[in-house]
Amino acid sequence: MSISEFELIRRYFATQFPKRDDVILGIGDDAALCQVPDGMQLAISVDTLVAGVHFPVNTSAEDIGYKALAVNLSDMAAMGATPAWMTLALTCPQTDSQWLTQFTQGLLTLAEQYHVSLIGGDTTRGALTITIQLIGFIPKSSALCRHQAKVGDYIFVTGTLGDAGLGLASIQQQITLSPSIKAHVEQRLNRPIPRIEVGHALRHIANSAIDISDGLLADLGHITTSSSVGAVIELEKLPLSQALRAEISLKQAWQFALTAGDDYELCFTIPAKYTELLPNILSSEQYTYIGKIENQAGIRCIDADGQPFLLNHKGYQHFI
Ligand code: ADP
Ligand code: MG
Repeated sequence: MSISEFELIRRYFATQFPKRDDVILGIGDDAALCQVPDGMQLAISVDTLVAGVHFPVNTSAEDIGYKALAVNLSDMAAMGATPAWMTLALTCPQTDSQWLTQFTQGLLTLAEQYHVSLIGGDTTRGALTITIQLIGFIPKSSALCRHQAKVGDYIFVTGTLGDAGLGLASIQQQITLSPSIKAHVEQRLNRPIPRIEVGHALRHIANSAIDISDGLLADLGHITTSSSVGAVIELEKLPLSQALRAEISLKQAWQFALTAGDDYELCFTIPAKYTELLPNILSSEQYTYIGKIENQAGIRCIDADGQPFLLNHKGYQHFI
């Protein structure tokens, strides 16, 4: 069944999402009007997911809806911001009500969890593409940026790394996994957990932060380049899930952890003197030490004997 653009907006997007007092005018006019709280700055991010590029074409509509918001929430987490409002530009080949119901359900899961209002958007026909712009608040001058890592900072990551990469390899049938591990790593690919609470906790402690969307080396590389520093990663410290350890060799697991994208964990750096504060603000399973910021440019990876580890390739990059 096909419905009109306006019916689609009314049915799926205009009424179901959380309401907020700071939205003065939401969906329905030429633009939304919102009130920024006193003392807050806006953190604004946008991310596009293209079918076949950012998710396999057979991904469920619910997972697509979830992930489209999750990747933006992850950007907010990496800034230490609190999400508030979003706009949705949806391009789809047809108005399939079953697909739209499930897509909206996935989106609502996270919108409700983080109390995000859908305040507007655009709906067009074409190849399946989802763009979400997310707007959040951050107290003045407390954002976590990429460019302020300092020599001597300790480097940490949240969660475990490489699971989403193994999930993608499984979906693309490059590897055959046991059913429970396959389910776990595909869940990690499709349902990343935005680390909003960790971002908040780090506001006055971390010198720099980034979310890992393109692989640890690529994303930590953004921190080191924009901060004009280098880094050393102690490979045996990398947090690897039981799933990764069970299915592939340690060297392959490191390779996934360093270069596979889509984990949406945070990587952050902290001055040595603040590291003892971490247990007060985060639980021990929320973060893992992986190395240090150093003077020498580039990122060195060393094994337990201090020997350099050579990789096959770096993180995912578009257009090369
Ligand atoms: P305009 O012609 O002013 O661009 P549209 O007809 O595109 O308006 O949209 C009508 C209203 O519905 C606007 O308030 C717009 O923000 C909202 N809207 C359109 N598409 C979406 C969507 N996918 N999600 C949320 N709101 C939407
Ligand atoms: Mg429009």
